[in-house]
Amino acid sequence: MEPMVAPVVVDRMFETSEPRFVDPDTNRCFVMVVLCPNDGERSYIETYKKSGQSLTTVTFKCPACERCFEVSREHIMVI
Ligand SMILES: [Zn+2]
Repeated sequence: MEPMVAPVVVDRMFETSEPRFVDPDTNRCFVMVVLCPNDGERSYIETYKKSGQSLTTVTFKCPACERCFEVSREHIMVI
């Protein structure tokens, strides 16, 4: 599966503070993915913070260079 740009799904993850989303029609589970700014590797969530019901800060970690980083929401894709 290739990462998809799906801002509605990402917004829903932030609003529900649930960093995964299960599509009720297909039961497919989506998670956030971003590309590492160093090397373009797919990077997944390392940690996240909540405030009330919403996600505030999501930190990603690159499996190749082990860098941890944050990106703005519009750069987050799902896979
Ligand atoms: Zn990297």
